[in-house]
Formats: sequence, structure tokens, C-alpha cells
Amino acid sequence: MSLLPVSEALEQLLSAAASDAPTGAEQVPLQQALGRILASPVQAAHDVPPWDNSAMDGYAFNASDIALAQSRGLAISQRITAGMAPVPLASGTCARIFTGAPIPPGADTVEMQENVEETDGIARLLQPVQPLSNVRPRGQDISRGTVLFDAGQVLRPQDLGVIASVGIAALEVRRPLRVAVLSTGDELVEPGHALGNGQIFNSNRFTLIGALQRLGQSVLDAGILRDDPEQTRVRLQELSQQADVILTSGGVSVGEADCLGQVLRESGHVELWKLAIKPGKPFTLGRFGDIPVLGLPGNPAASLVTFLLLVKPYLLRRLGCTQTAPLSVELAAGFERAKAGGRDEYLRARIENGRVVPTGNQSSGVLSSASQASGLLLIPAGGTVTRGQLVSFLPFEGLLG
Ligand code: AMP
Ligand code: MG
Repeated sequence: MSLLPVSEALEQLLSAAASDAPTGAEQVPLQQALGRILASPVQAAHDVPPWDNSAMDGYAFNASDIALAQSRGLAISQRITAGMAPVPLASGTCARIFTGAPIPPGADTVEMQENVEETDGIARLLQPVQPLSNVRPRGQDISRGTVLFDAGQVLRPQDLGVIASVGIAALEVRRPLRVAVLSTGDELVEPGHALGNGQIFNSNRFTLIGALQRLGQSVLDAGILRDDPEQTRVRLQELSQQADVILTSGGVSVGEADCLGQVLRESGHVELWKLAIKPGKPFTLGRFGDIPVLGLPGNPAASLVTFLLLVKPYLLRRLGCTQTAPLSVELAAGFERAKAGGRDEYLRARIENGRVVPTGNQSSGVLSSASQASGLLLIPAGGTVTRGQLVSFLPFEGLLG
């Protein structure tokens, strides 16, 4: 059986996500909207700034009085601080003004106080000034009616600031997806318990739940599932009633004990399986009833990599995000790889002296090299790497955020 290219798998996942039921929307106050995904566009109901205002502490006057301001000086007819409502400026006078204060009607130019000499209520310019200087015009930042954000935008701190700047206090955002996380394997015990013969601690549960929490999704921790077809069927049945998505690890390889794949084939169905990706070949997209089952390989590094590259885009698209591709930057390789592989290979890597280098053991069972890494480095199928060659590096900040 030939392996499915990652790009095709991703396309199938994204189109599945687009046709799977979208999550509902809810209204949240702005202060709870960080990291949430907009369910409807945001439009500016105000200009920002709402009025012309001074960019400097200084003096405001009309450009037609510049010559007079330089020769005899202008009488100071009012003092305007930020937050005040000014009165119209009498012709031939100026206003003492401070940063952020509204420009009075009749004025259009500000000179900073460092270039002005003030004596006995008269302000005189020490040097020429360009008309219209140091005024921040109304609507310079945002003009009323502009669509600031489309639905699907993940809200970052600066986005909340922009939305606040137009006076909006609450937003329509997508409800989180309920994601059930199921760890399969007879060998698994939870940390905190004694390790029996042949057992290992369940690490995927923590990696996957952590990644889902970073995405702000609602986690249904379904614990450990034994390698038993009947138990697997029952558990998938239960979870398919409770969750929007079932995320599993383990049990999707080709071995006899890999009963998750077997149960999906018999009692649900498998939409894609066996990808040209390393680590992560056994990744499976299946369905139990209507509920998508994203079956990750058991090997911890494979589980992490397939979550980041395949599950996360699926979840984002399901939440209405248009932008699902992770940030990727081109960096010079600080290593060599002479032998080409048959699968897209994602190495755990970090940046050293401006060059990207793999972090230690890249076996799919080794997770510590992921902790030593700051991202993933892609070697496309069939590719080799020479020192200094540009390679794609995907920082974890982008992959997890
Ligand atoms: P599987 O995909 O079930 O064949 O598992 C592949 C490898 O991953 C085996 O060595 C498993 O013991 C290991 N593994 C499976 N699930 C987990 C888990 N939750 N935490 C840590 N290792 C696991
Ligand atoms: Mg297993």
C-alpha cells in the first residue's frame, strides 16, 4: 500500500473539518476573548483617534499665523490637556496643548514646546515649522465603518486593543470544541502509580491535553483504554455521544494488538491511514457514527508531530479559521543529511548560532529531543541536506499557539 502524501492528507482533513458540524457561537466580554476565535466580523463604529489631537506637548495655532508666531509671537488664549473639550481658537492666538489633547477648531498645526519660547503669556516660535505638523488627524489609525477583523481570526492581545479602541466591549466567538482524549495500550499506567513489569507511564495524555489546552479547547480526559476490541467499541460509542472529536493515541499500526484501527474499520470507518510522514506514518482519520476519530500513533514523538501538523489544522478549520498553516521560516542548516528518505521528515530541532540543527535522537519513541527542541525542521521526501542549505523550520510557538 502506497503512503498518502502529507499535503493530500491535510487537504482531506481540512475538507472534512469544513463539512463537520461547526461549533456554536457565544458572546464573551472583551477581557475573556484572548485566544478565542471570532465567530462574526468586527466593524469599527468610531474613528480612531476620534478627533484631531496633538502628537506633542507644545502650542497649537493656525498655519496662517506661522509668520506672526515667529516674529511677534501669539497670545496663549487657552490651555488644553488630554481629556478636555477645547473651545474654538481665536484668530491670531495659540493654545497651550499637551499630547493627546484635541486640537481646537481653528488650529491645524502644533509646535513642540522645545522649539517655543514662552514669556508673559506670549508664545514665540524659535524656528520655522511646517504647516499641519504634529497633528494626529481623526481616523488616522482606523476610520469608522472599516471591517477590522473577519470571522475566523484568532484574537491576540493587540487585536483586543484594536477592538477596545473602537469602543466594543463584547464579542461573538466560537464555542470550544469538546475533544475526548483517549490513551490506548495495555502497557500504560498513569504517573503516580507503581510501574509493573512491562509497563510504561502514559505520557501522550499529558502532551495531547496540554496542546489542546494551549488551543483553548475543552478537554474530556477519557483516560486509558485497554487493547480489547469490545472495550474499544463500547468506549468509542460512549465518547461519540459526549464529544465533538475523539483524539486517540496508539493502536493504529498494523499489529494484532492495534485494535483501534480494527474497530474503526469494523464498526465505523477509516477515511485515511498511512501517511508519508516521519514520524507519524500510522496516523488515521476515522469516524465512529458521525464523530471524527483522529487516531495518532502511540510513539510519543509521532503523536506530538501528527497533532501539530494534522490535528491542529483540522481543529482550527473546524472552528472557522481560514489561516491553518503554521508559521514556517527558512534558515540555513547547521548539519548534513546525505541519504534521502521516502517520507516528509520532521526533525525535532533548534537554532544554534543562527543555524538549525536536530536535537539528538530522532526515533519516534524518543520525546526528550522534542523538549530540547524549539521547533520542527522539515526535510521533504526525497530531499538531502547540505550544510548551509536553506531548510524550513516551524517554531513551536507557531505550531502550538
Ligand atoms: P502503538 O501505536 O499502540 O503500537 O504504540 C507504539 C509505541 O508507543 C509503543 O512502544 C507504545 O508503548 C508507545 N505508547 C503508546 N501509547 C503511549 C502513551 N500514551 N504514552 C507513552 N507511550 C505510548
Ligand atoms: Mg498500543
